[in-house]
Amino acid sequence: MLSHLLPTYARAELAFERGEGVWLTATTGERYLDFSSGVAVNVLGHAHPVLVEALTDQAHKLWHVSNLFQMPEAEKLAKRLCSASFADVVFFANSGAEAMEAAIKTARKFHAANGQPERVGIITFEGAFHGRTLATLAAGGQQKYLEGFGPVAGGFTQVAFGDLDAVKKAITPETAAIIMEPVQGEGGVRVVPGEFMRAMRELCDEHGLMLVFDEVQTGLGRTGELFGYQRSGISPDIMALAKALGGGFPIGACLATSEAAKGMTVGTHGSTFGGNPLATRVGNAVLDVVLAPGFLDHSRKMALLLKQRLAELKDRHASIISEVRGEGLLIGLRSVVPNGDLVAACRAEKLLTVAAGDNVVRLLPPLIISEDDIAEAIGMIDRACTRLTAHQPSANKVAS
Ligand SMILES: *Cc1c(COP(=O)(O)O)cnc(C)c1O
Repeated sequence: MLSHLLPTYARAELAFERGEGVWLTATTGERYLDFSSGVAVNVLGHAHPVLVEALTDQAHKLWHVSNLFQMPEAEKLAKRLCSASFADVVFFANSGAEAMEAAIKTARKFHAANGQPERVGIITFEGAFHGRTLATLAAGGQQKYLEGFGPVAGGFTQVAFGDLDAVKKAITPETAAIIMEPVQGEGGVRVVPGEFMRAMRELCDEHGLMLVFDEVQTGLGRTGELFGYQRSGISPDIMALAKALGGGFPIGACLATSEAAKGMTVGTHGSTFGGNPLATRVGNAVLDVVLAPGFLDHSRKMALLLKQRLAELKDRHASIISEVRGEGLLIGLRSVVPNGDLVAACRAEKLLTVAAGDNVVRLLPPLIISEDDIAEAIGMIDRACTRLTAHQPSANKVAS
C-alpha cells in the first residue's frame, strides 16, 4: 500500500473504525478483543460514556486558550492528582516523553537552585524506556534508538537492572537523580521488587538525589495500585504520567513535591498545549471513574483471575509460554517462540496484544474487563498456542 506516513512503524495490515468497551471493530467488520489498550492508554476501554460526555461537552465550550491565562480544568486535575499521590505540584505536557523531559529538567534544576549546578548526572537502568526525544533516548540508553541522531545528550549513566551495587558505584558528587520504572514496560514487563525501590529511596536520601519514577505506563491503576510506587511503601520526589491519564486523549504530567520543584520558577519551562482544556477535562473524567470506590478493586480481582488462567495456559503450552509475570493488568508472557509470532497468532484469533523486550508479549487490557472478556481471551491465547505448536518442530512439542 502506498503510504504518505513516514514509515517509522511496522504496522499490521489492519485498521479500526470504532470501538466499544474492550472490543474494536475493524474496517472489514471483524471484531477484535483489545488486550493492548493502545499500549496501556485506553484504561477505560473505547468510547466510555463518561469520557465521551466530558469531551463533547468541553468541545462545545472551549478548546484552547494557552498558559497565558488561568486554567481551571488543569488546576482541578492537578489538585486531584496531588491529593491522590505524594506530589504538591504538577506540570502538564502532551506525551510521556515530554513528561519525562519535565522530570529530568526538574531534577537538575533542583540542584542548580541549591547552588550545585554541577549535579546533572542521572542514573538509569538497562531495559528502561523513557521516550523518543533526544534526552529521553539518552536516558533509555538503547543503542538501536540512538544511532544516527548525532551526539547523545550527556549526563546519563546506565547500570544493570536491579543491581544495587552498580547503582552505589555509579553515584558521584555530580549525580542529580535516579530514574526508574516501577515495572519496566517496553523492557519486557520486568517488575522492580519493593525492596529495591526502598533501597533506591535510601540511597537518594543519603546522597541528596532526586528519585524520579517514570510511571507513564504503570500509572493510573495499571499495576493494581493507583501508582506503581505505592506497593513499595516509599514515594519518589518526581513522577511522570501520561498514557492512561487521558484514556486516549493525549496528555502527560510531571508531578513533584514542592521541594523537588523549587527550581521550576516562572519562565523555566513551558508547553503551548500543556494543560489544554480538552485534555484536562478528559483527564478529570478519567479520574472520576478510576478513583470511584471499587474500581481498582475490580481491576485487581480481574488481574488475579487472568493471571491464574494464564498460569494454567503456560503449563499446558510450555513449548510456547515459559513465564507469566507482571503486576496488576500489566502482564507479560515470556515467549519461547519469537514474540512477534505469538502476537501474530493471537491477532489471527482476534486478540490484540503488544510485543515487548526480552521476547515478551504484553497483555494490557482496559481496567474495565469482565470475567467473560478474560474467558474469551484465554480461549484465544489457547488456540493461538495450539496453532503455533502445530508449526513447531516435533522435538519441541509438549503433551497437554
Ligand atoms: C510510553 C512510555 C514513554 C513515552 O511516552 P510517549 O507518550 O510515547 O512519549 C515513556 N516512559 C514509559 C515508561 C513509557 O511506557
